[in-house]
Amino acid sequence: MKTLLFMDDLLFKYGFPNHPLTPLRYEYFREYLSESGLLDNPDLVTASSSVADESLIALFHTKPYIERVKELSEVGYGLLDRGDTPAYKGVYEVAASSVYATVEAVKRVVEGDYLFALNLAGGWHHAMRSSAGGFCVFNDIGVAIEYLKKWKSPDYRILYIDIDAHHGDGVYYPFESDPHVYIFDIHEDGRYLYPGTGFAHEEGSGPARGTKKNIPLPPYAGDEELLKYVDMACSFARDINPSIILLQGGLDGLAGDPLTHLNYTVDGYINSVRKILETCLDLGIGLVFLGGGGYQPRVVARTWVDVIKLMLSL
Ligand SMILES: [Zn+2]
Repeated sequence: MKTLLFMDDLLFKYGFPNHPLTPLRYEYFREYLSESGLLDNPDLVTASSSVADESLIALFHTKPYIERVKELSEVGYGLLDRGDTPAYKGVYEVAASSVYATVEAVKRVVEGDYLFALNLAGGWHHAMRSSAGGFCVFNDIGVAIEYLKKWKSPDYRILYIDIDAHHGDGVYYPFESDPHVYIFDIHEDGRYLYPGTGFAHEEGSGPARGTKKNIPLPPYAGDEELLKYVDMACSFARDINPSIILLQGGLDGLAGDPLTHLNYTVDGYINSVRKILETCLDLGIGLVFLGGGGYQPRVVARTWVDVIKLMLSL
């Protein structure tokens, strides 16, 4: 299927100095992608990102927070949250280019130019409206959701699926009471892992009750649990019949990840993504894949190439 991949030098700088989230993952990805021969496939189109306008970022984030990121980005040091997300020179432009790529991916998929699009340097699901969080500076997902609502309509049906090992608190809480933003989030139980949220009783509030599902998994859960709940996510998708799926496909649930305690295999992960992509084909809708976490750079890079191969094979 026709697939759009965002890649360029600025976007692929996403990461932090002396930090588990290293831009090396993107360096290795470029290496493996060019070795794979997939760049010769006419169905894979690559595109460059660009620095998002402040007005776009402001669809989700508060002005004072955007100003703070700008300031610290010029100064080149300091912390954007309580300790996990350091500033460096140029961090504003890098984070803003991640926002641009995700919004552009969403636009191109909704317009029907592509069935699938990927921003591997996106999926920053811990950033809140007025703060950074857990390696996430700007919440590209939150911006894309607000953008879709403004562009299409406030009741445009969006399904956000999150299989990153961490709970997507920066998507859940800002849209907790929005009945048109559907969420299915499978993650390691918050009692054992950052950010400590995403419990099963958190199903949306007020008019949105039941539009969100949080599935906390015990430490050391593996493919069996992942596939079981991805099947549930696919039935959820069929029931609600969304207009687009945003998939935060973080790879930090793979066995051996230094920050989490889940045990997925690459095969289990790819089979999960396959189920979700096939559901999109059945529903006749597109999907935007966002890279999210994953702290074994070579494993992450190789698995991303597998995801692209899978998209092109459908
Ligand atoms: Zn994560």
